[in-house]
Amino acid sequence: LADVTEIYPSKNEIHTSIGNLHYDFLVIATGATTNFYGNKQLIKNCLPLKSIDDAIHLRNKILNNFEQALLTDNEDDLNSLMDYIVVGGGPTGVEVSGALGELKLHVLPIDYPELDFKMMDVHLIQSANRLLPSMSEASSKKAYDYLRKFEVDIWLNTRVLNYDGYYAELSNGQKVITKTMIWAAGIMGQPIAGLDEQSKGPGSRIKVDEYNRVLGHDNIFAIGDVACMIDEKNPAGHPQMAQPAMQMGKHTAQNIINLLQKKPMKPFYFKDPGSMATVGRNKAVVEVGKFKSQGFFAWFIWMFVHLIAVVGYRNRFVVFVNWMVSYLSYDKGIRLIIGDDTNVIKEKTDKEPAVLEK
Ligand SMILES: Cc1cc2nc3c(=O)[nH]c(=O)nc-3n(C[C@H](O)[C@H](O)[C@H](O)COP(=O)(O)OP(=O)(O)OC[C@H]3O[C@@H](n4cnc5c(N)ncnc54)[C@H](O)[C@@H]3O)c2cc1C
Repeated sequence: LADVTEIYPSKNEIHTSIGNLHYDFLVIATGATTNFYGNKQLIKNCLPLKSIDDAIHLRNKILNNFEQALLTDNEDDLNSLMDYIVVGGGPTGVEVSGALGELKLHVLPIDYPELDFKMMDVHLIQSANRLLPSMSEASSKKAYDYLRKFEVDIWLNTRVLNYDGYYAELSNGQKVITKTMIWAAGIMGQPIAGLDEQSKGPGSRIKVDEYNRVLGHDNIFAIGDVACMIDEKNPAGHPQMAQPAMQMGKHTAQNIINLLQKKPMKPFYFKDPGSMATVGRNKAVVEVGKFKSQGFFAWFIWMFVHLIAVVGYRNRFVVFVNWMVSYLSYDKGIRLIIGDDTNVIKEKTDKEPAVLEK
């Protein structure tokens, strides 16, 4: 409920939206934000997928599109409302385009029998030569095949150059009409002003030493997505994912206790529990060390891991029952269009363009 706007390391103080605060130790865990690589058109016209607000906004947009599609006979208008572009072939882009493909095949034709869903195209644009580049080639290939089963059009080695909210211009010279472009093509750290110059890392992340201490500061730590700990195994820092963030949090808390008890700090080593991505019903890829799984078993593991991560037994039970109902009925969650989206759009466009650090 308060924003930290600046750090004054010489005074051990932070400036926040509710006043100044003194600290003995400071832990920065401000995470990451969507990276549009400074392209103002993309900032203005794309939908990011980073927060719950973004997710609700996307749901509103999808439902509104189909409601509007019912009201037009114009073919271009129909295409722009029914076609989707997802940018970025990492786990988020793969999961979102898989979900859209599943909606197209199993859910929307029941909700909107008046529309011809052969007209709905889902395009996944990936700049690299394969999907899920952080996973093995076999998992990439499997994710590709699964998405094709959901009729997703996959464009590898292709980038979105510009998008004015209607025409998307691709690096291969193609132009695609769509009113919905979902941006899952990159994130950047959210550092706070006031830190030493030497702490400025790649992707706007904060450079830390092996104890998660910010370079140039003895009593300031950075953890999670915003932190960049460069070592031989992780030349670009740890992956910006939940596991490094959680492990760094626990480790840093113990190191601060050690400091208070005048004991030495311990260096941080990331224990990689593996990675996974789900494409849709019964379709996922999982890699844990040398163990690799694909298909139903991988999907089951994905569901289990995400279910136990839900906070509280009651919530876990509710989520489990909802998933079972969806699985058996082929139905998706509630179709609610919530609130007035104009505020969300304004908030996004008012932001300064994100600039990628070289
Ligand atoms: C759509 C999506 C799907 C994902 N799926 C997975 C997944 O399946 N597996 C996985 O491991 N990871 C996943 N991730 C990544 C994972 O969510 C992040 O790696 C993780 O949340 C990072 O934790 P964090 O604590 O560093 O930052 P965050 O969880 O982002 O928390 C940072 C917090 O700091 C607050 N903040 C920022 N700036 C300030 C400021 N100046 N003052 C005060 N507060 C501030 C923010 O509001 C936010 O609440 C996903 C991310 C997204 C967006």
